[in-house]
Order: sequence, then structure tokens, then C-alpha cells
Amino acid sequence: MSTYFRLQQELQQRAGKKVQLKINDNRSTMLSVRWEPDCTKVSLHRMFLQAPQNIMQALACYLRQEVKIMSPNIKHFIEENVKKLDYSHTIDRKKLCSQGTVYNLQEMYQEINNEYFDGKLQLSITWFGKPFQRGRSKVTFGLYHDPLRLIKIHRMLDNPFVPDYLIAFVIYHEMLHYVCPAYRDINGIQRIHSKEFKQMEMRFRHYELAQYWIKEHYRKLFRIE
Ligand SMILES: [Zn+2]
Repeated sequence: MSTYFRLQQELQQRAGKKVQLKINDNRSTMLSVRWEPDCTKVSLHRMFLQAPQNIMQALACYLRQEVKIMSPNIKHFIEENVKKLDYSHTIDRKKLCSQGTVYNLQEMYQEINNEYFDGKLQLSITWFGKPFQRGRSKVTFGLYHDPLRLIKIHRMLDNPFVPDYLIAFVIYHEMLHYVCPAYRDINGIQRIHSKEFKQMEMRFRHYELAQYWIKEHYRKLFRIE
């Protein structure tokens, strides 16, 4: 019996009603349910193929509509498994651009990787956005896309006015998002920058300088003066 068929049978049995199951492998839908009069349509990410019993039970309760909201167990299961997802193979490498007019992100990334992580991280890096951000009040220097293992650095920083240690710091910060993933604390609050994250961040060679530069230039950079 295929894993899919077994899962569908199991859900149907536990939920005590007709279930139409779809297993997906996309990055956006982990679990979606549509209760229709004649059957319940369920789309589950493939991570659920390895779900333990208690998760299947909680899922069945939810399908039976015994509970209005999804159990925290399921949410936790999804969160834990999302961390393990790796969709880096889906990146269109032709669209990545690491060579800027002033800075080459790939070279900088590799240097940081060697210096702080023994060259072990396998992440991709690219510029994003437009070089000038007139009139914008808030701009993100860098982003990290977890399932893609992809770092994006704002093109606004590709400027001789921006020192290399600042860009290196932003790259290092984004790399730490891979090393110290977000987690939920005991109160169930999502913590993106953990204590460990902040401690590691302070180990950056030019940490103080970078902090100082950001403080000094923030307003100028975002043209909110
Ligand atoms: Zn961050």
C-alpha cells in the first residue's frame, strides 16, 4: 500500500468522514482544509507523510471540526519540519546576481564563511532591490529565505559610501539566521534573534564599527531627514 493511500485511509477512518487528500510539495501550503458537504478536502505538505500518531489524531479532531482552531501540536510539528525543508534546488541560478558595481557579494560571503564557519555553510547570495530608495522610510538591508537557503542584500548598499565591513556585517547577520534558526519560547512567542544569535553576532570582527556606522548613517541612507 502506498504511503499516500495509507495516510488517506487513516485520516478518513480517524475523521469518520470522506476525505479527499492531496499531498503537496510547495513552500506555501503546509496544511489547508476545505469542509464541503460531501467530502473534506485536505492538502498536506509531504512532511505529514512522516507525522507521528499524536499529530494524526490532532489532525483528525480538526477535520471532524471538534475543535475550531488547529492544535498547537500541529503548529509545532509544522514549524519544526519547515526548518528542515530545503528548496535550494528550486532557485533559478541565472537570476541570482552577486556582482555589484562596487561589491561582489559572493566573494565577501565566501570570506566570511571561511573566517567564521570553516567554509561549511552552503547558502546562495544575491543583490535585490533598486540602488536608490528615495522617499522610502524603511528599507531592509538584508533578508534570509530559509527554505531557499538564500541571502538577499539590498542594492542600496552597493555604493562606495558604504564601507565593506558594513556589508560584511549584514551578510554575516543573515548567515546567522541559518545557524541559529527562529524558535518559539516557553510563552509561545516567535523569537527571531535568540540570545545565542546575538552573542554570535557580537563576535563579528567589526561589530562595534558596524553598529556605529548604522547609527550615524541611518537617516541619511533612508532619506528621512
Ligand atoms: Zn535578522
